[in-house]
Amino acid sequence: MDGSQALKLSCKHVWSYISDYIDDSVSAEERAAIEEHLEHCEICSAILDSVHNILVLTADERIFHLPIGYSDRLHARIEAALRGGESPSSLPER
Ligand SMILES: [Zn+2]
Repeated sequence: MDGSQALKLSCKHVWSYISDYIDDSVSAEERAAIEEHLEHCEICSAILDSVHNILVLTADERIFHLPIGYSDRLHARIEAALRGGESPSSLPER
């Protein structure tokens, strides 16, 4: 029977948590559910990776501003990855 897993997140659900997850401002339950999802989802792991890289790169400024259009580009990338059925990490590097 189903229902043994308390929290089952969809990819979109994970994306909405990603910045909080990196900020460490999710609950332990949410964190566990996100990590479980990431283990099985290459798309979300790749997205988490790139978001994390961006945050690390901008972390020297204590207050940083996401560039305008950042979210749009991220969402476009996510949607392209989903539609193409391949993870962003498998796209050829320029
Ligand atoms: Zn996912």
